[in-house]
Amino acid sequence: MSDADELRSLLATEGPAVSAGTQGFNRGRYESVARLSEYEGLKAEARSIKEDAIERLPELIDQLRETVEDNGGTLYLADDAADANDYVRSVVDDRDADRVVKSKSMTSEEIDVNEALAADGVDVVETDLGEWVLQVADEAPSHIVAPAIHRSRESIADLFNARFEPDEPLESAEELTRFARDHLGELIADAQVGMTGANFVTADTGTMALVTSEGNARKTVAATDTHVAVAGVEKVIPTVEDLHPFVELIGRSGTGQDITSYVSLLTPPVETPVVDFADDETPLSELGADREFHLVLIDNGRMAMRDDDELRETLYCIRCSACSNSCANFQQVGGHAFGGETYSGGIGTGWEAGIEGLDVAGEFNDLCTGCSRCVNACPVGIDIPWINTVVRDRVNHQGEDGGFDFLVDGLTPEADDGSPSLQKRFFGHFETVAKLGSATAPVSNWLAERRGSRVAMQRLLGIDARRELPQFQRETLVEWFADRDVTVANPRREVVLYPDLYTNHVQVERGKAAVRVLEALDVDVVVPAVASSGRAPLSQGMLSTARGHAERVAETLGPHVDRGRDVVVVEPSDHAMFQREYDRLVDADAADALSANSYEVMEFVYGLLENGASTDDLRAGAGDRVAYHSHCQQRTLGLESHTVAVLERCGFDVLTSDVECCGMAGSFGYKETYYDVSVAVGDELREQFRADDARDRAVVASGTSCLEQLDDLLDRPTRHPVQLLSPP
Ligand code: SF4
Repeated sequence: MSDADELRSLLATEGPAVSAGTQGFNRGRYESVARLSEYEGLKAEARSIKEDAIERLPELIDQLRETVEDNGGTLYLADDAADANDYVRSVVDDRDADRVVKSKSMTSEEIDVNEALAADGVDVVETDLGEWVLQVADEAPSHIVAPAIHRSRESIADLFNARFEPDEPLESAEELTRFARDHLGELIADAQVGMTGANFVTADTGTMALVTSEGNARKTVAATDTHVAVAGVEKVIPTVEDLHPFVELIGRSGTGQDITSYVSLLTPPVETPVVDFADDETPLSELGADREFHLVLIDNGRMAMRDDDELRETLYCIRCSACSNSCANFQQVGGHAFGGETYSGGIGTGWEAGIEGLDVAGEFNDLCTGCSRCVNACPVGIDIPWINTVVRDRVNHQGEDGGFDFLVDGLTPEADDGSPSLQKRFFGHFETVAKLGSATAPVSNWLAERRGSRVAMQRLLGIDARRELPQFQRETLVEWFADRDVTVANPRREVVLYPDLYTNHVQVERGKAAVRVLEALDVDVVVPAVASSGRAPLSQGMLSTARGHAERVAETLGPHVDRGRDVVVVEPSDHAMFQREYDRLVDADAADALSANSYEVMEFVYGLLENGASTDDLRAGAGDRVAYHSHCQQRTLGLESHTVAVLERCGFDVLTSDVECCGMAGSFGYKETYYDVSVAVGDELREQFRADDARDRAVVASGTSCLEQLDDLLDRPTRHPVQLLSPP
C-alpha cells in the first residue's frame, strides 16, 4: 500500500474519531487556559525547571538514587530497552509473580515490556481503559494521552461483545466502562506486581507524580506488594515544589481539564497495607505493608539527546499531547500515521529520532508542515517545528541521490544539504522555478498545464495532478515597481516592502495593492530585488540552502533597516521567518534588527491608523461583507486581530473563520502523498465559508497557501485583505 493509500484509508476509518477527540481536547485547552490568569508565567516556570533539570540530570539522578534507597526502594538505571526489560523480568521472577497489572505508561510501550514479560509466561494486564481496549484489540496507541482515540464507542462495544460474549450485549459508555471495571478489578486482585510509569519524579523526596483519568495507577500500586515504576531519565525534577506548574499545566494542555481527575503523589514504597483480597475478615489496619519498590530509570538514547544541541529540547516534553491535539494533520489521521514506534504527533519526531533513530522519525516527519500552531500550545515552550526541521535535514543527509538531476538543472542541493529527494529539491529551490516561470510566462504556465506535463510532474516530482498550479506573472513586482515614478511628499514613514517569492512572481497584484495602500497613507516605499526568505528550503529540511537565503536577505535588508526603514512583509510565513527562524539562521545582530523592524502588512497599516493616518484615502468598505481566513503563522505571532481591526475600521463587515488551518501549508498541499489530507483539513474551512452567513461574502486570506487552497475549495475568487483597501 502506498503512503497516500494508507493515509486515505486512515482518513476514512480512524479519522472521524481522532478528529472528534483531538478537536474536543483542543477546544478544552483554549477554554481552560483562558481561565488561568498566570498561564504564561506557569509556562515560563515549567520551562525553566526542565532546563535546569536536564542540565543537572546526572547530579539529580545520583541524588534520586540516594533518596529512593533511603526510602527503602531500589533505583536501576537502564541503558536501553533490553537492559530495562531484563531488570523488570528479574524482579517479576524473584517475586514469583504470574500476573503484572499496569497503569498507562508510554515509556513501557517504548521498551515493549509487555512482550518481554509475556515471553516468560507472565500475564500482563493493562488497567487503563484505553490501553486495555488496545490490548484486547492487539493495536498500538494512536495518541500519547488517549491511546484508543481512534476507536468509536461502537467499535469498542463490537470488540468487547465479540471477545467476551457478555450475557447482554454491551452498548453504552456506562455499560462498557462498568464491564471493564469489574473485569479488571478481578485481575488486579489476583496480581502480585503493579507497574506504573511516572509523569515526574522528584530528586529530593523520591516522590512520583502520576496523573491519570481513572485512578487505576494508585489501585495498581496499592493492590500489589511489588511496585515497579518505569520512567525515562528526563522525568526527574529537583523538588516536590517544582511539581506545581506541571500539575497546573498538564491536564489543561492535554485534555482541557483544569485538573486531571487523579493526581497521585506517591513516595514509594507506599505505606498502605497490602490488601489480601481473599481475606474479607481481617481489618485493613491489621494487615502489613511489606512492600518492594523498584524505580527503573531508562536512558535508551536520552543522554545522547541531552548532548545534542537540537534534540535536547525534546527532553523538556511532559507528554501532555497538546502538540498532537492542535495539529491539523494529526487531527485528520492520528498517531497511526503521524507517529513512529511509540511516540506520535509533532514532538513524536524528536522522540523517535532520539530513541529509535532517523529512519523511524523520517517515516512520518513530513506530516509536520511547520505551521507552528503547536508552539503556543506547548506548556514548556518547545520549538517543535524547529526540531522537525532539523530531523528532516538529518534525514536528507541519509538519502540516496535520486539520479534525476539532469531534469532539474539548477535544483541541485547545497553541499551541506545531503541528498534530499528530487521532490524536496524542487520545492526547496522554488525561487529558481519561479524566476524561470516568470521569465518565460505565459508559455511556462501553458506548458505546465498540459496533460503530459502534469503526468510527468506527478510521476517525477509527486505533484498531484488535481492541484491547480500557480500562474507565474511575466512582470514581477520588483520590475513593476522599478518602472514607476511615484513620490510621496512629506512621508510619515519610510519602508522597504519585502518582495517575497509569491508576491513577486505569482500574486503580484497583492504586492501592487500593498504599495498603493502604503503610499495612500503617506509612506515612502521601496521594493528592491531581494532573495527569497529561505522558507521554501527550510520547509524541505534543506537547512544549508535556507541559511544561504537568510544571509542574502539580511545582507540586502540590513542597510535599509540601518537607515531607518521599516520592513513590511505581505506573506505571513516569511514574516514568521524574520520573527521566529532567522535567529537560528543568521547572526544575532542581523536577526534582532530584522525581527525588531519588520511588520506584517496589515499590522503595519493598523499601526499607521493608530498613529494618526486616515482611512479617507483608502477604498471604503461601505458595509461590504467579507469572509476572512487568517494564517497559522500569523496567529502564532498574535497578528490576526490587526487585519480584522483595519478592515472594520475601513467599513467592511468581517466574518472571521474559526477554522485554524486551511490545510495547504506551502508545498504540502501540492504533494500527491498528502493531497487528500490537505483537502480533508480544508473541508471544515470550505463548509464554514459555504454556510448561510458566509456564502455571499467576498473571500480574503492573508497567506499564499490559504489563498490557493481556498481558490481550489470554493468557486469564488480570493484576495489578500490589502487588495480590498487599495485605492483605485
Ligand atoms: S512537546 Fe509540548 S505540547 Fe507536545 S506533548 Fe510535549 S509538552 Fe506537550
